[in-house]
Formats: sequence, C-alpha cells, structure tokens
Amino acid sequence: MLKFDPYYFQCPNCHAWLEGRNLKAEMVNEALLYSDGKVLYDNYITTRQKMVLCPSCAHTFWIENPVEPLITIEKPDAYVYSWNTWRFYGINFSDNKGKMALIRHYLTFLQKSHYEPKREIYLRRLLWWAYNDLHRNHQHIRIKYFLNGFMSFGVWRCNRNMILEGQKLFLKNLSGFNDNLKRLLFLLEKHPEEQIDLELPEIYRELRQFDKVKELLDAKGSRTHFINEMARHTKWKDSRVFMVSG
Ligand SMILES: [Zn+2]
Repeated sequence: MLKFDPYYFQCPNCHAWLEGRNLKAEMVNEALLYSDGKVLYDNYITTRQKMVLCPSCAHTFWIENPVEPLITIEKPDAYVYSWNTWRFYGINFSDNKGKMALIRHYLTFLQKSHYEPKREIYLRRLLWWAYNDLHRNHQHIRIKYFLNGFMSFGVWRCNRNMILEGQKLFLKNLSGFNDNLKRLLFLLEKHPEEQIDLELPEIYRELRQFDKVKELLDAKGSRTHFINEMARHTKWKDSRVFMVSG
C-alpha cells in the first residue's frame, strides 16, 4: 500500500521538476510524536519541507502555499528529480555525519540572509529538531531494546554506538543548540499564533528552566498524557527530547 501521496513542482529558476511526498492522512495515527513536536512515520518526517535547494541548479526557494501550476499531482511528462535527491538537501540521514551536515545547512541558511519571522521560526524549529536528532532515541541504548527482540544484537550494538557518538556531538554543540532555542523562544513569544501545542514549555524544559515549565504546565486546565509526561521529565530535571507516543 502506498503511504505517501506524490506531488510535483518546478524550480522557479531552472524549471526542473521535483517530486514531493505527503504522508497520507490515514497514516498519521500510526506516526511517532516526540516532545519537541517532530512527528515521524517510518523514520520519515511528516512536516512538509518548505525550503528547497534545487538538485539541478542549487537555487534555494520556498514552497509554502503551493498552488497550481507550480505544484501539481499529475506526473509531468519530463525528467523528475526524486524525493531523495532534494529532501533534507540531499544528505544521508543514516549516520551522524549526515545529521551534522543537516545542522550546518540550517545554520548556513540562517546566516546567509534575514527572514520574515514566520520563515525564521520554520528554519529554527527544523534546526532544533536536527540537533535533537543526534540523540533523539537515546533510550534505545538500553539493553532492554535488544532483549525485547525488536532488533538483532548486531543492529542494536551498531545503533547504540551511533547514539553514544550522537550524544557526544550533541553536548559538543550545546551552545549552538541553546542559542537557537533562545532565539526561537523569543520569536514564538512575539508571535504566539505560530506556537504549536506544548512547544513553549518544551523549549523551557530543553533549556533546563524547569521552574518556568512547571508554571506553564500548572496553568494548563486539562492534564493530557503529553502534559503528564512532560511534568514527569521536568521533575527528574531531564532536558532531553523524549517520545510521547508511538
Ligand atoms: Zn533549479
């Protein structure tokens, strides 16, 4: 069964065709939600990539409010660059080198020019997630993830080594991570309409301002599973990203 709906769009500079993919709505229920708001399905991010680096001419452009004829669901009668050639700017996500390359892409975009707040929030949110990707599944290093039979010993050990190295890289880049989150926090407080769900308390938690998290969570009327989990991690003074559901 196809899990994604393909769509096609053209680079405004060289007119090359690129293939994009949207997760089918009925698949969203099977996706994993992380505390930083990133949603993954089968290891694919479900948030649409709005900033594109053309694989043909290296022109950078935005596809925010896609409308015809720039975007179509009809496969064009021309050469089409596949999704893998341009999503995440062509980097390979399966190791830490690729994850660091993605971070550098976002940092370069942010240094290269000024963006209106909405776009800067978008880029900084993706940069935040990219930093967190270095240690996103840190719980998988525990032996129980091998013992419960999801992975063979070889796969588990290889994965464990990658996460341990990712944790070191995360700590090494902590000041860049914190600078980005502080700026994102500033922008989101100025533009509350751009905030997603529990994004603000989560940013405070990842910045280790646990008193502020507690204050924001106490102000919420209802207690959802997500709120309870965040309160638990705050009590432990754990600032790492965690899996909310999946
Ligand atoms: Zn192009």
